[in-house]
Amino acid sequence: MFLTADYHTHTPYSHGKGTVLENAQRAAALGIKQIGITDHGFSHIAFGIRRKQVPSLVRDCREAEEATGVKVLVGIESNICGASGLCDLTPSDYENFDLYLAGIHVYVHYDRARDRKIGMGAMLRTKLHIKPSKSLIRETTKAYCNAVQRNPLDVVTHLNFQCFAGAVEVAECCRDHGTYLEISAKKDHLSDEELAAVAATGVRFLVNSDAHSVDRVGDLARAQAQIERVGIPLEQIDNIDGRLPTFRFAEYKKHH
Ligand SMILES: [Zn+2]
Ligand SMILES: [Zn+2]
Repeated sequence: MFLTADYHTHTPYSHGKGTVLENAQRAAALGIKQIGITDHGFSHIAFGIRRKQVPSLVRDCREAEEATGVKVLVGIESNICGASGLCDLTPSDYENFDLYLAGIHVYVHYDRARDRKIGMGAMLRTKLHIKPSKSLIRETTKAYCNAVQRNPLDVVTHLNFQCFAGAVEVAECCRDHGTYLEISAKKDHLSDEELAAVAATGVRFLVNSDAHSVDRVGDLARAQAQIERVGIPLEQIDNIDGRLPTFRFAEYKKHH
């Protein structure tokens, strides 16, 4: 299994260490054809990219593409800001971006105060090994599914990392809307049982590094181990072994 494209990498525009150019150079050295620069979205309290930085991000991506020959997509890892599915990349931002990832994060300005429980509240439960309530699972599932329905998301990142959704329901929603589910090589998120169950829905996968430093760009080791353990068919993963995905956001932008 080799990586054709790595669609989830961070830079100093949020809290990654490698610059856009350095991440692209590393991808080139590894024979990776495309890379996504996907810093944290605007409502991330500590690390979110600022809107005024977007022109410079776009310029860096274009220059890195020119310098390396790797296709460099201007992306974002948007925050899902509540059960309504509100995401912090909005239609007025779309023209500047090529790639739309979204996930649930802890340190975010949430839509409503009560939405904090799907991020911060869930993270604390995870750390303290407290079982999530049915209502928390329902709200988190709603947040993911509404996000996929309301926004032209390309990828849902690290589903159920420190939070609790009905993974199968989210996967079915992704499958029905042409949104990829990520298998992250950075951290454990879906359990083996959950991964097997979501794979059975027929959802399409991407496997990404979520690199926050240059040396981790293109690093799949942790994800590959889980994929082999669970026996996910490699044909269900669209950014490996020479394959490239079809992205929903690019299609959406063509028609709007
Ligand atoms: Zn993330
Ligand atoms: Zn990330």
